[in-house]
Amino acid sequence: MGSNEMVMVPEIKHTKLFINGEFVDAASGKTFETRDPRTGDVLAHIAEADKADVDLAVGAAREAFEHGKWPRMSGYERGRAMHKLADLMEQHTEELAALDGADAGKLLLLGKIIDIPAAVQMLRYYAGAADKIHGESLRVSGKYQGYTLKEPIGVVGIIIPWNFPSLMFFLKISPALAAGCTVVVKPAEQTPLSALYYAHLAKLAGIPDGVINVVPGFGPTAGAAIASHMDVDSVAFTGSGEVGRLIMEASARSNLKTVSLELGGKSPLIIFDDADVDMAVELSRLAIFFNKGEVCVAGSRVYVQEGIYDEFVKKAVVAAQNWKVGDPFDVATNMGPQVDKEQFERVLRYIEHGKSEGATLLTGGKRAGDKGYYIEPTIFADVKEDMKIAQDEIFGPVMSLMKFKTVDEAIEKANCTKYGLAAGIITKNLDIANRVSRSVRAGTVWVNCYFAFDPEAPFGGYKMSGFGRDQGMMAIDKYMQVKSVITAVPDSPW
Ligand code: NAD
Repeated sequence: MGSNEMVMVPEIKHTKLFINGEFVDAASGKTFETRDPRTGDVLAHIAEADKADVDLAVGAAREAFEHGKWPRMSGYERGRAMHKLADLMEQHTEELAALDGADAGKLLLLGKIIDIPAAVQMLRYYAGAADKIHGESLRVSGKYQGYTLKEPIGVVGIIIPWNFPSLMFFLKISPALAAGCTVVVKPAEQTPLSALYYAHLAKLAGIPDGVINVVPGFGPTAGAAIASHMDVDSVAFTGSGEVGRLIMEASARSNLKTVSLELGGKSPLIIFDDADVDMAVELSRLAIFFNKGEVCVAGSRVYVQEGIYDEFVKKAVVAAQNWKVGDPFDVATNMGPQVDKEQFERVLRYIEHGKSEGATLLTGGKRAGDKGYYIEPTIFADVKEDMKIAQDEIFGPVMSLMKFKTVDEAIEKANCTKYGLAAGIITKNLDIANRVSRSVRAGTVWVNCYFAFDPEAPFGGYKMSGFGRDQGMMAIDKYMQVKSVITAVPDSPW
């Protein structure tokens, strides 16, 4: 593991709630700590939103929606403001990557070349989409004509996790803003810093007050207040399945707001005998160890066909051992610390489960170093489908390796999960690739690649990985109502 002497902390300028275009203290005056996972030290004290603050934020968003300019501007004008925000993000890429790096233990270098540029791309995609939202004309029967109007749904509550603080923020707010909605965002309590910075940039970009509100705080207080609010029209959530259920219950018990859920995954990566083994090893390493395995689409179950299994295992172990764990601000590092103490301990508990359930620990399996929340890249072999490490989302750098013989067996095993977020296939055989792509019950399938994300490609889950899609033009529909307008045409010639 690299030395922690690298530790640098970016300047933290925004620590208060952002409501109606102003940074304000919490009504209670309370704050909470956000910590640096490299050391466990406190990074900043952040104003802690609770129900009273959520009420104020929803009130501001409602006012901006009912009486403000945003929903009434042309799509073109909304798009221009969004592009301006994207320009400002580009000017502050370094600072934003450093904030996520210190808050979430993410690699600074990847923040600069992946996280922040991807967030910008997401925002620009929907900025361009804002003036391309159309209804349909309807050839209704009889002496009538009809058309559909697409209208913004209203105030959108957004609750997001900590693993991609910047990307999650823009994945959710961009289509909502394009649609003409106003938003109240609760970032994860572990990673509030970049969201507050984006609020500041949105103000500079001229996005009107009340359109974007940011209320950091905890789930059972601030998050629950959003989910059960009578004046929130829709909630977009990314996070765990347990909390996803609570969000649906809160909707059912309050105003039946629409809900979209992006939940966890236990994604299979299936490697067939004809694969280039070196390429397969590289992709499988990336699929599970990228972002320390804190990725909802992590390729955590790796199925390898028997013909190349032994060679794959040998090479995968070496590859894992060469994956450098260390300070995420060091350019030589491949993997930083887990986001916080809770996740760190949770992952280590799963590793213990793996050992006690009889899986073979090939490499890793313990904490790295003695400070911060670092874990060694870990590989288990001889994993059985019914083991906890094959079924539960670990959300850490733990690969479960399994052997298979036939294509049918691979499909059956890949689908042997309650999740259905993503899957990967490595083969040169087009027929196998096509067949498996169609047979795997998952929202995204990558063939001979992994993590190939693009704003154009709808993203979301089958089964207990949730419902609703982010990305693509269809994400805008989550934030719109469709109204049918039927007009009598008494003198119709038809
Ligand atoms: P979590 O569900 O505990 O937290 C996610 C968000 O929900 C946080 O902002 C949290 O404060 C909030 N929250 C918690 N309790 C709440 C409540 N009672 N009411 C309203 N909001 C509440 O998830 P986590 O453990 O922090 O994050 C990791 C999980 O998120 C993993 O299971 C992972 O699979 C999932 N995840 C899914 C995706 C995806 O796109 N499908 C992406 C990233 C993470």
